[in-house]
Amino acid sequence: MQMFLDGSGRDSLSGSTLPVYNPATGTVIDTVPAGNADDVAAAVAAAETARTKWAGVSQADKSRILIAAGALIREEANTLATLLTTEQGKPFREAKDEILGTAHIFEYYASMTGSIRGDAAVLPKYGYMNVVRKPLGICGAIVPWNMPAIIFGWKAGAALACGNAVVVKPSETAPLTVLRLAELLTAAGVPGGALNVVTGSGAVAGNAVVRNADIRHVSFTGSVATGRAVSLAAAPTLKKLTLELGGNDAFIVAADADLDAAVAGAVRNRFYNCGQVCTSAKRILVDAGCVDEFVRKAKAAIEKLVVGNGLEKVNMGPLNNPGQRDAVASAVDRIVQEECGRLIFGGKKQEGPGNFYAPTLLSDVSPDAVSEEIFGPVMPVIPFATLDEAVEIANSTPYGLGASIWTKNITTACTAAEQIRSGVVWVNRHLILPPEIPFGGTGNSGYGRENGREFIYEYTEPKSILIGL
Ligand code: NDP
Repeated sequence: MQMFLDGSGRDSLSGSTLPVYNPATGTVIDTVPAGNADDVAAAVAAAETARTKWAGVSQADKSRILIAAGALIREEANTLATLLTTEQGKPFREAKDEILGTAHIFEYYASMTGSIRGDAAVLPKYGYMNVVRKPLGICGAIVPWNMPAIIFGWKAGAALACGNAVVVKPSETAPLTVLRLAELLTAAGVPGGALNVVTGSGAVAGNAVVRNADIRHVSFTGSVATGRAVSLAAAPTLKKLTLELGGNDAFIVAADADLDAAVAGAVRNRFYNCGQVCTSAKRILVDAGCVDEFVRKAKAAIEKLVVGNGLEKVNMGPLNNPGQRDAVASAVDRIVQEECGRLIFGGKKQEGPGNFYAPTLLSDVSPDAVSEEIFGPVMPVIPFATLDEAVEIANSTPYGLGASIWTKNITTACTAAEQIRSGVVWVNRHLILPPEIPFGGTGNSGYGRENGREFIYEYTEPKSILIGL
């Protein structure tokens, strides 16, 4: 496997490589170049030669190219989904959903190229004011391992639609699908150099992207700790940042909720992608009047989940990497040992190869015990007495990415939606993110928005032109 740069594969200038593992078996499936600062500089040089040309492509032609990219991704969906499952671990069905979602993201951005525009007004005594939206030049995209295809699509699609060149740094534990997607974009007509992928570690290649002075914007998705490091490393170059740093979403089940729908929604969301989604339902808050019934029904549903290699017929695969599994296991052990919650189901690593961890249900969990997000297949159920208390618990962590309220009462829904501090609130849904919805958080969940129409403000800058009367 080679690094993708300037539209053609090549090795890292360092000559060294990194292994890519199958999380279900622990075996090496491929290697990628261990990119370094020289590779990032080469990618930036390629982007520099391409960015003006790409910015000058008409909106209609950019749109055609992004639509063609979507079509190529759809044609190859099964192969891409197999690759994604093999390097990331998720069940094939979820991988295919992600790949088709990625195709749709490029189609969405294709539909938006004509909408990237500014503002105009007549200013009496002064003249005609025109505010145009200019591309930033070269954008950096740092993509995590949990949803590598679609998050690549969010960042690369937005940057390209706005007329920027892009340098992408995928996670070292899931770089292969991103590399293939980049090849397909080039095959669709994105000119060489406008889209570059530098593989390698976060500490080396990622850090070099953030520090590079010619990269004017970095969109980063990952942990709060790395987000802070990115923010500090970016400061000397005064580049723009879009930071999506995870969440600790509350999923609130009111007394009048359709309990079966809420249980099904919680189980589906919490164990999707083995619980490794920034806006998955990480804290399940249930009205004390129905919490016992909720836990009983949730346990019955969780017991039926089939865990195994994502290429087989399973509901849940392994965690992406051994460090992630260890972090999840120690979070659960701590809650149980400190008696901050009762273990109802699961709570253990699976013996044998692969990073498997049983789907886990905890009841009577104290809100403080889960103030840090658990990025894995763990459902902590927290009882509450009143809606005010539920909102207070929902708002009691430094995160603010997503939340949901499950109720049939419109006043309860609107009260919760208004009072919960987060970037997204769903009513009787969770984790539904079509590209039309601007996505991002508040507080420690970061700042800036991806998708929606708001992406325009992240990936362009205004230029004001006053024509005197
Ligand atoms: P990181 O935040 O460290 O990694 C996310 C991305 O940043 C990866 O591409 C990584 O590359 C890259 N990266 C790492 N260090 C740097 C750096 N110094 N400069 C620039 N880029 C860097 O997350 P982890 O993989 O360590 O996961 C730990 C936790 O992060 C999870 O438990 C979860 O809580 C959270 N997380 C949140 C995600 C979200 O969707 N919001 C996604 C993934 C993780 P590489 O992988 O090659 O090191």
